[in-house]
Amino acid sequence: MPAEWALTELASGAQQIWKAQKRIQGLVDKTPLIYSDKLSKKFEAGIYLKYEFLHPTGSFKLRGAASKILSLEPEERQRGVATFSTGNHGLAVAYTAHRLGIPASIFISERVPETKVNNLKKLGVKLFVHGRSQDEAEDYCYDKSRKENWTVIKPFDDPLIIAGQGTIGLEILSQLPELNTVIVPLSGGGLISGIALALKCNLPDVRVIGVSMMESAVMYQSLQAGHPVKLEEHNTLADSLLGGIGLDNQYTFPLVEQFVDHVILVSEEEIARGMAYLYSEHRIAVEGAAATTVACLRKSEIVKPADNVALILSGNNVDTSSFHEVVSAYL
Ligand SMILES: *Cc1c(COP(=O)(O)O)cnc(C)c1O
Repeated sequence: MPAEWALTELASGAQQIWKAQKRIQGLVDKTPLIYSDKLSKKFEAGIYLKYEFLHPTGSFKLRGAASKILSLEPEERQRGVATFSTGNHGLAVAYTAHRLGIPASIFISERVPETKVNNLKKLGVKLFVHGRSQDEAEDYCYDKSRKENWTVIKPFDDPLIIAGQGTIGLEILSQLPELNTVIVPLSGGGLISGIALALKCNLPDVRVIGVSMMESAVMYQSLQAGHPVKLEEHNTLADSLLGGIGLDNQYTFPLVEQFVDHVILVSEEEIARGMAYLYSEHRIAVEGAAATTVACLRKSEIVKPADNVALILSGNNVDTSSFHEVVSAYL
């Protein structure tokens, strides 16, 4: 790629992230970056944990949703927003809309579990239950939103969502300017793209490492293939990392291709051990997606002595009984 192109791209990306930071303050709080004495000793490096599970909906997704929804015109806000995610993105859209007094509709399939449905209901959204799969719910969401003039809030493939997630990078820069490695859970790539853009224009040598579960790692397989691919979903502890990247992906696939240095895959057992470790050593309960970052540290060649590494602990949406079941085997 020509160097000057990369530079303009980076600079305008960074500006979008500063604008997003300005937009979301008041709705989204900054999160702490905590030095882990135990992990630092174990890996002979500086290891820091970014507490992105502290947001009111339990994940960083609030940053992107707030960035996007706060950029809508007054008429668009009045008409309402819609989305088709059942997980952390759905919760973030519902919460943001609720706080801003904007009508929100969430489209889910008949297979979505009762607990998730109830969490969404509590946020006062309109729920549309349709179809046997998430894809069918998505199609219905676009159909209905076109008719009703609602703005569909995508989970990751949107520059304003990416910019919102990128505000994590700006915070880390001010918290740890000595950073040289960041480890980020990777699914659709909105999180890692935003963070990479924010960091790389300030720290050109920073290593950005994505981590996914072994099976159904759609972004990883797409990078291998050189274009977005579709994969079957397998059950995983990192359920927030499931889902496709979109065969018509416009932004996150090229950004990940260009700005992410490595993608590492971790096993289910490694994820479970990561969750148990964070609980026993730091007394924090995170979901599998977040624990992939700790699991990744154990891979050889990832951490070198004297590195300063930030792990993005992206969320904590795991129900109590499954958390207990997973970690008790490794405590
Ligand atoms: C959505 C999500 C991710 C991955 O973010 P992408 O932008 O899809 O790559 C990681 N962790 C948690 C907890 C999430 O909810």
